[in-house]
Amino acid sequence: MIHQQAPTQQAGERTLAGLEVPEAQLGRLPAALRVEGAAPSAPDRREVPVPVPVVNGHRFLVYKQDPSVTSLGVRVVFVPTVVLNGPKDTRIQTELADVAPVARNAGGDFIFTPNTPQFDCAHTFAVARLTLSMYERHNGGDPIPFAWNVGGNTDRITVHPHAGVGANAFYSRTAKVLKFLFFVPQGQPADGKVFTCRSLDIVAHEMGHAILDGLKPGWLSADNPPQTGGLHEAFGDLTAIFVALGQPDQAEALVALTKANLHDRSFLPALAEEFGRALGLPTGLRDADNDLKLSEVGNEVHAISQVFTGALYDILADVYAFELDRQRRTKDPTAVLIEVANGLCKLLFDAIVASPATGAAYADVANQMLQLSASRGDPAVYRTFIRNRFAVREVTTAATPLADLMSGRMRMTDADYTGDGRDATEVEPYDETSASLRAEQDRSRCCGTMQMPEYRAIGADRLAQRGPLDDDDILRDDLEELRRAFSK
Ligand SMILES: [Zn+2]
Repeated sequence: MIHQQAPTQQAGERTLAGLEVPEAQLGRLPAALRVEGAAPSAPDRREVPVPVPVVNGHRFLVYKQDPSVTSLGVRVVFVPTVVLNGPKDTRIQTELADVAPVARNAGGDFIFTPNTPQFDCAHTFAVARLTLSMYERHNGGDPIPFAWNVGGNTDRITVHPHAGVGANAFYSRTAKVLKFLFFVPQGQPADGKVFTCRSLDIVAHEMGHAILDGLKPGWLSADNPPQTGGLHEAFGDLTAIFVALGQPDQAEALVALTKANLHDRSFLPALAEEFGRALGLPTGLRDADNDLKLSEVGNEVHAISQVFTGALYDILADVYAFELDRQRRTKDPTAVLIEVANGLCKLLFDAIVASPATGAAYADVANQMLQLSASRGDPAVYRTFIRNRFAVREVTTAATPLADLMSGRMRMTDADYTGDGRDATEVEPYDETSASLRAEQDRSRCCGTMQMPEYRAIGADRLAQRGPLDDDDILRDDLEELRRAFSK
């Protein structure tokens, strides 16, 4: 019923009962006009229960690239899983003497002043966690085991943000760790330390090694061909690129900076900028936007890796150019970039999973990418981009003609373009006698992971069996020799 009060009466026949009062306005009506039984005011009106968020999570502060890329700085990221003090969760824990476990703040978040030891713990954990989550999404949401997670073993990987002095970082299966070292660059004062853990690229790269070792435990052994080692290094670098492009504000900054041309100079292909600069390399430790061919790199794994990374970077740029044109009237360029990067990352992930357990070569992954791309229904031009880029880098033969690409006349925006009408999904290695397929691996310029004795001393077949390693595994041949000597 209506309160029979003066204002309503004065409105004549325009009583409240006859008015269309929007539901949302009811709470704001003067007391005299309120309908009895309706909620008295907006804040208390909760007829429908508020859905309780199903996602628990915490905020972390991370560098978008590293401390030297000041134009990007830091950002707050939301990690949508339960993280305990440490930080530590079901897969990753943090170790730093006298600092860890780092406690969450009153809001449940890991937000600390940049460059403090607490920040370094939170940053390193968060980037490692984002990297693992990215690949677990590509794995259908299922957890990806670390190489030692067999037979019900759930041991975490331990992240050491300040692992010691040195210009390096590494992953070790034996120790189940990621270790990030720090150093003072030549000519810098003692307080000018560079901490490798503050680089998103370096943390993502090393976590990439750990994840790939879980997926393909036989690939880290140095008795594989150099290209298999190149796949490990390239996977780390590409992981850093895909993690960066998974952050919408980074993708947006990149689109604005380059006017949506991924071959324009930018922070994206420059990997480990601060670290590289400390070593006198202005475009970072490695440049993903390179033109290296297999015939130019011999058996040096670090350089070989850049051939694969460069091919994938070119494919990313090609697919982006195509999708940007196709969706230009319906979607924002940043949204297109995020989707394209996500789709290519998934394709690479699936192709690697489908590749041989040991001795994998670039052509194996290229062929898996072609077949998976066809089976998931990508436009034919996607396969043309893949075939072309691997062929130009002398990884594979050109199954379809390169003439249009090489003369700058390729129809990048034609979804059906194949070169000669054949949508080939099988390519051959360009040169079976290439040192990158035949020689011993030269790992002298690789990251710390590739230098670890466990991956040099233990054969690919043993590593491929998964499971934990111990020091005796590394020394097995020497111990066997001793045993023979002592039994004489
Ligand atoms: Zn590496």
